[in-house]
Amino acid sequence: RYFSETPLSGESVTLQGSEAHHLLHVMRAEPGLEVVVFDGLGGEWSAEIACLGRAEVELTLQEHAAIERENSAEISLAVPLPKGDRQRWLIEKCVELGVTHLIPLTTARSTKNSAEASAKLTRYVIEASKQCGRNRLMQIEQPQSWSTLAACGLAPLRVLAHPNGAPLSEIETGDSVLLAVGPEGGFTDTEISLAVESNWQVVSLGERILRIETAALAMVSQWVLR
Ligand code: SAM
Repeated sequence: RYFSETPLSGESVTLQGSEAHHLLHVMRAEPGLEVVVFDGLGGEWSAEIACLGRAEVELTLQEHAAIERENSAEISLAVPLPKGDRQRWLIEKCVELGVTHLIPLTTARSTKNSAEASAKLTRYVIEASKQCGRNRLMQIEQPQSWSTLAACGLAPLRVLAHPNGAPLSEIETGDSVLLAVGPEGGFTDTEISLAVESNWQVVSLGERILRIETAALAMVSQWVLR
């Protein structure tokens, strides 16, 4: 599966950058090789390599398949991004589990937002989408502070993970949900009060204290699989 930054339509597309590099130097592709290409806007195309340049590959688009591998519900996840490999892991798993929007979160106890350069995060999203067969890219939103996010009505259904909350299975489902996970130091009492006043529901993820990325993935997977 290859990703096209250019929206796909018409008869052909030219891949450049790392996608072309992979075909040219890792796959050592020849004209005629069949591939699948997607543009992250939904659906995928079967395609054939038409010609190979020094740093670009032209594909002939053959057939469009309106294949969606999305969850029935739209899931936004607000989470303080951990650093380095943990950040990459979190983003990959969110893509695999079908999170639609990821919102890097800052809170009273989070360290300065450690979101890596946006192009790097988008590359993680593309790589994970290629691997798991997703045809729509998870959107990485602008970082938001808890004080802004908690009070705004982005989604009617808002659920926050905090020790001693209710079991997640007790929360009603919906077409669109905003899930939130706190920083390593946890949400402050003031932040929890603000959330409760703003109609957030507070859920527990079990008896043990989970790290940020484990909590995020546990919450999303429970939501997706129930
Ligand atoms: N000492 C912090 C506390 O008591 O909140 C621990 C923070 S934990 C490392 C990071 C975040 O993961 C928490 O703010 C919460 O959102 C979520 N989390 C971790 N374990 C949890 C659990 N058992 N139940 C609910 N949320 C949890």
